[in-house]
Amino acid sequence: MIIVPLGIASATPTATRHLPSVALWREGDVHLFDCGENTQMRMLQAGLKRSKITNIFISHFDVDHYSGLMGLLSTLQLQRRDKPLTIVAPEGIQKFVEWNLEFSGTEISFDINYVEIKEDIEEQRVVDEDEYYVEARPLKHTKFCVGYRFQEKDKPGKVDAEKAEKLGITEDEQFKTLKAGEDVTLDDGTVIKSYDIVGHPRPGDSFAYITDTNYCPNAVKLAMNTNILYHEATFSSSLADKAAETGHSTAEDAARVANESQTKLLVISHFSARYTNPFVLLREAREKFFPAWLATELRPIFTDPAKEKGIVQQKVYLKEIDDSKSGSSKGKKSSDDKQKRFRKRKKFDKKKGSSRPRRSDSSKRSRKSDYDSRKKSGSDYNNRDKSDRNDGGSERKPKPITPRTPFDDFDRF
Ligand SMILES: [Zn+2]
Repeated sequence: MIIVPLGIASATPTATRHLPSVALWREGDVHLFDCGENTQMRMLQAGLKRSKITNIFISHFDVDHYSGLMGLLSTLQLQRRDKPLTIVAPEGIQKFVEWNLEFSGTEISFDINYVEIKEDIEEQRVVDEDEYYVEARPLKHTKFCVGYRFQEKDKPGKVDAEKAEKLGITEDEQFKTLKAGEDVTLDDGTVIKSYDIVGHPRPGDSFAYITDTNYCPNAVKLAMNTNILYHEATFSSSLADKAAETGHSTAEDAARVANESQTKLLVISHFSARYTNPFVLLREAREKFFPAWLATELRPIFTDPAKEKGIVQQKVYLKEIDDSKSGSSKGKKSSDDKQKRFRKRKKFDKKKGSSRPRRSDSSKRSRKSDYDSRKKSGSDYNNRDKSDRNDGGSERKPKPITPRTPFDDFDRF
């Protein structure tokens, strides 16, 4: 199972972050969780084929979480897709899609299987295939919103072929029967027990997608013992009030779910645009749970790196943060030298920066003085330490706030 974050912004895109979407690659198929604007482009850039999409899961109907859906469907139509597509979402999705298709006079050449989730569910198995299933549970947001768990079914144990042959098993059919857990009787009447030949079933991998929610027990249930928990961390705990009010989580909340569910890996995403440097959120999450990583757009996360590395290869360079400065992303750093190429970040433009709309006087003052002090010291924000932000409320000396690019939206999260 390979997880590829396609968009890690919340609410509004920024110059470097796209609206929410994450792809799960498994055995050649792609399953999308949320489909913000740009999802189809990011798939191309990630090296994921859109024709391979099997299921699309939408968490809720805030526009940023599904604004890429119609564009993607249009592309699939233009690609002359013929295999069916499943769209799972809260109730209303079918009406939305069909209205849009009718409005634009588009006829879709493939079948869409809609799975609509009603608000009163406690838990629902929304997809059930031979090798995996997906479960949905309601979360706690300002509107109906569901989280998902993608679970591979247990894989049969390994067959000890040598031992089987010694015991007289020769035919493929006999191996199949043993693998299916049934015993085989040989011609001479000897019974070969399945458990003598076949090892323990191997548990399937699992992935939980929890976004746009306050902390809630259902998030923990969905994430229980997962390989990867992909959880929103819109705010740092210094803005816990805002998180509670807007139905979002802090990085600390994400870590709490990770702890209570005993997931193997926490990946945080859905960052407020105010965190130009999301390491402040990572630091907060890591204080409570480890291992925790930041979702990085287009950078794949593997459940079985030995087998999966190289399967999905991005077509554009990744934006990297200098490890020697941040010291926090070592765990996910690739040994591949090619990945060390950094993209230059845009210099802060004072003119554009100062003509920004609406901001409270106090924050204006502090940002301005931050900017001035930075200008005096001649420091370059690209190369400053990750601890520069003081959102965490720790005892660190307050340092200048990282300026954002002129394209970032200050007033939204
Ligand atoms: Zn959101």
